[in-house]
Amino acid sequence: MAHKLGSLASLALRGVGSLIARTGGRGRLSILVYHRVLARADAMFAGEVDAAVFGWQMALLAEHFQVLPLPEAVRRLRDGTLPPRAACVTFDDGYADNHDVALPILQKWQLPATFFVATAYLDGGWMWNDAVIEAVRQAPGQHLDLAPLGLPACSIATPRLRRKAAMTVIARLKYLPPDRRQTDVWRMLRLASAKLPASPMMSSSQVRALHSAGMEIGGHTVSHPILAGLDSAAAYAEIADGKAQLEQISGGAVQLFAYPNGKPGKDYRHEHVEMVKRSGFAAAVSTAWGAAGAGGDSFQLPRFTPWDGTPLRFGLRLLQNARREGELVGA
Ligand SMILES: [Zn+2]
Repeated sequence: MAHKLGSLASLALRGVGSLIARTGGRGRLSILVYHRVLARADAMFAGEVDAAVFGWQMALLAEHFQVLPLPEAVRRLRDGTLPPRAACVTFDDGYADNHDVALPILQKWQLPATFFVATAYLDGGWMWNDAVIEAVRQAPGQHLDLAPLGLPACSIATPRLRRKAAMTVIARLKYLPPDRRQTDVWRMLRLASAKLPASPMMSSSQVRALHSAGMEIGGHTVSHPILAGLDSAAAYAEIADGKAQLEQISGGAVQLFAYPNGKPGKDYRHEHVEMVKRSGFAAAVSTAWGAAGAGGDSFQLPRFTPWDGTPLRFGLRLLQNARREGELVGA
């Protein structure tokens, strides 16, 4: 292990870890959130987690944290029996690389994880934001005319600028009604003369394989809408149907839920928390940052993933997070 993390970094982390355990890390739960784990680095997304980065992050977790299955961690959080430096690993959306790239690394370190899957994109679907990224990736030339979307033209001369252009479009479209947004995505693909390649999402059999490997499958709605933008009946159907579909696919109970986009009060409200309870889930996670404390709401557990590029900084930030209560939720 030491050779992986660097023996000095490893030693420093161990020291900080025991300090945090003594001074307040106990009783808190750090839930990490991932989306994609790329097989290899992507020039357009230089900071994205790839197999090499995920590899050292999991090595670090295995060595310095007590990684628990999320259902067990939620139970022990309620009972007050969490071990020090308790952590969970979660993935949102249902990318195929979670199965192909992340699963073997998790298995290498014998770490449990939960995969929150939006069912509409299984077996060949594309989430709208990924379609936008693909459009910008394939766009020819140095500039992209975004006037039809009501945006100024963007330079796409470098991979970094392409990323910036894609993020600008995604921010513009995120809170539009789904139909309107989909129209804009098609328009965007035409503007860029882009063709969608093979879907980056999981197949149903990959969901089953994760479940058979002992991983937890969690609900993430059917089509990944911003729940706060839907009427009550549609929001409830998204939550409950996603659960039923995943139970049918995996053959197991789906106990956990992740709110799409996940910002309390913005992406979901109190009524959606009640719907999640009514649908039969046992707990749910948001994307509010922080560590969950014993007194927190187990239907709005905060999550946190350090963005640091080195093991020592990553580990320190995670330990620091374990001392911080999750943001208070006023949804
Ligand atoms: Zn998501």
